Amino acid sequence: MSVPTQIDMTGIGVQIAWDDGRICTYPYRYLRLQCACAACVEEMTGRPLLNISAVPDDIIAADHLLVGKYAVQFLWTDGHDSGIYPFEMLLRLAANDSAVICEGE
Ligand SMILES: [Zn+2]
Repeated sequence: MSVPTQIDMTGIGVQIAWDDGRICTYPYRYLRLQCACAACVEEMTGRPLLNISAVPDDIIAADHLLVGKYAVQFLWTDGHDSGIYPFEMLLRLAANDSAVICEGE
């Protein structure tokens, strides 16, 4: 599985350089809405708990940190910081969702 070699906050989103040479940009609000933490998605049922309309259009990730060797955690400007984004999930989004823009494929 690919791992990030660099993670940057750009004007439009989180830009992740993967070690396979691809550079993928994840728009901020899009990525915020993918949060799968227990506050955003009900654990047992998978029911969405996040009030999408409460997420500001101009939200950005103020900071990020790597979680072990498998995930990245973002601090969003709406104050939310409990979401863990496994690399596997970020790669799946890049492969399947046209909202994620990748170069170098
Ligand atoms: Zn969350």
